[in-house]
Amino acid sequence: AKDLGGGEHCRFEPVLHASAEERRQLEVALRKALGRDEMVLHYQPVVDARSENVVSFEALVRWNSAEHGFVSPGKFIPLAEDTRLIVPIGQWVMRRACEEARNWPEHIKVNVNVSPEQLLEPGFHREVVEALAATGLRPERLEIEVTESIFLRDASVARNALEQVMALGCSVALDDFGTGYSSLGYLRKLKFSTIKVDRTFVQGAAQGSAESLAIINAVVAMAKSLKMSTTAEGVETIEEAELIRNLGCDKIQGFYFGRPMTAPDALRLFNVVEGR
Ligand code: C2E
Ligand code: CA
Ligand code: CA
Ligand code: CA
Repeated sequence: AKDLGGGEHCRFEPVLHASAEERRQLEVALRKALGRDEMVLHYQPVVDARSENVVSFEALVRWNSAEHGFVSPGKFIPLAEDTRLIVPIGQWVMRRACEEARNWPEHIKVNVNVSPEQLLEPGFHREVVEALAATGLRPERLEIEVTESIFLRDASVARNALEQVMALGCSVALDDFGTGYSSLGYLRKLKFSTIKVDRTFVQGAAQGSAESLAIINAVVAMAKSLKMSTTAEGVETIEEAELIRNLGCDKIQGFYFGRPMTAPDALRLFNVVEGR
């Protein structure tokens, strides 16, 4: 939701007023969050559908605010995007994720979510170059996740920015596929490595929805012919995991295989000693 408009002439309902005020206070706190060291990254494993070996971890930001306690990304990421605070937050996420992934086995990738506002910033490419250089992470180990919404605003700028990071050797995944912008034209132009099938389809298929099943089948077939891989998101049960495997998805992510965890816990998962 954007500005409610009307300025001082507008009389808010008490409940609306409360949420606007809450939002303002959240913004004040969010502005200070990085400086106060209130953000951490958690990592959720992505496994190979067949071997069930971990192939990557997705970095998911967590905010523990002094004033507001734990605030979910579903709440503060949209606020950060509206206020452009996502740019410094996203920069911090990129740097931190590369730093932590540097300690993992070489064959494990790290997936980093990038918002449209961050991707469309002129400094984005330099930011990635610097994060890789400062941490020594090989570009091949970094996968950037974007949603279809990046094409809504300035599609050619978005495409250029993604092509630049692909030229470095990084890969790009298309997140939440099927929930946003519906044109498929950009799939011809950009070489995504992975299409992530949104959890809503996984859930739907598991509950017997013929439509969800048909959509997953179509996405898997399309990805195969475009030489892209597929990751199913939000797999919570063994039944869902088996269904998804039978549908031919390449990778699986979800609570069934692992919840988002701290970097030390992620490392422990491999029985490796921290450091290198
Ligand atoms: P997303 O990128 O689609 O991330 C997946 C979300 O689904 C995560 O929620 C994850 O914890 C949750 N999830 C994973 N497996 C399951 C499952 O089996 N069942 C259920 N019910 N949920 C599952 P989270 O961490 O709350 O993040 C929500 C969204 O916030 C993310 O959705 C992403 O859009 C955004 N976000 C998180 N971290 C970042 C970040 O560093 N930068 C940006 N730009 N956005 C971020
Ligand atoms: Ca994601
Ligand atoms: Ca997703
Ligand atoms: Ca999502």
